[in-house]
Parts: sequence; structure tokens; C-alpha cells
Amino acid sequence: MVEAVDHRCSQICAACGDSLLYGQSNYLLQIVHVKMSADGQGGFNLNFESVVDANEDYVYFPYYLEEICWKKEREAIQELMSEYESYIFRNPICACTTCGGSITQGELVGIAHVCIIKVSERDPDNENAEDLYMPPQNPDILCACCMQELNVNVTTYWEEGDFIDDAQKREAWSMGGRSAAAG
Ligand SMILES: [Zn+2]
Ligand SMILES: [Zn+2]
Repeated sequence: MVEAVDHRCSQICAACGDSLLYGQSNYLLQIVHVKMSADGQGGFNLNFESVVDANEDYVYFPYYLEEICWKKEREAIQELMSEYESYIFRNPICACTTCGGSITQGELVGIAHVCIIKVSERDPDNENAEDLYMPPQNPDILCACCMQELNVNVTTYWEEGDFIDDAQKREAWSMGGRSAAAG
């Protein structure tokens, strides 16, 4: 039994507004640029670069979601995207977790990482000192089309921004646009 597991922490779930609990598995949802680079050992790594403005502030504020709430959001996106064929491009670096479409070098994507908020070990008596632990597992990676679908038709997390443009770019690259799946 982890001590303080029942305690609410200072963060809330962006989807339902409930307080997050210390020690609970949540997701951290961010908009980033995804890039593949050589790992120096013959393999490749995916790197995620935050989108920041000239003052190093986030252009897209990152949000915490409870595990159950993120899974609901993901299912809602999947449901909406099942109406469409996913975009397949040449030279993809990875695939979108929800629609299976191609994601290419440098694209703007949404990522959702499992994370656990803990009482700070450095400062355990300070209520506001929290540590973020991210287990070493691959995040969900969502293409710009899926993020646009989430933001427009499920829950609005961000003002309209560049990932909307990226969704349109994906449409242009695919030559002919996103078409309704047959049947
Ligand atoms: Zn929630
Ligand atoms: Zn997608």
C-alpha cells in the first residue's frame, strides 16, 4: 500500500474536472512535433518536441486526463474516424494509434503518456510539491486529423491552432482528400 494514495493532488482531469489522486495512473496529453532520429546503435528513436512560443511558453497547454477519461476520448475519436479512410503516406515514421494513418517526419501530433503524480520525495511536507513519474512505455500518438476530430467534435482543449492546418495539409498530401469509406 502506497502512502497518501487516497489524497487528491493539485491537478484535475481536463475531461471531467475531477481531482487526480496521488499514485493513480493518468495520461498527460500534449501537442508536439514528432521526429525520428538515429540512436547511434543502428536503430531509431522517436523524439517529441514541445511547441513553444518566443517566450518558451506552451502554444498548446498540456492537460492531465484520468485513464478512464482518456480511454473514452480515444474511443470517441476512433468512432468518428471510422467513417473515413485513414491517410497513408510514403516514408511514414510511425502510425496513428487511433486511425492507423501514416505520420511523417516533423508532423504535429497529439501524444498521451501514462503518468503518475506523486508527493515530492524531496519535499514531502509541502502540499504543492509534486513529482511526475512517467513509466517507460510508448505513448499513444494521434495524427493531426484525429486531434482535430477530438478538439472539434469531442472536447475542446485548445483554441483552433496549427494542428488544424496540419490536418488540412494531410488532406492535401493524400491527393483527393479524406473520402468516406465505402460501405
Ligand atoms: Zn476524468
Ligand atoms: Zn489518426
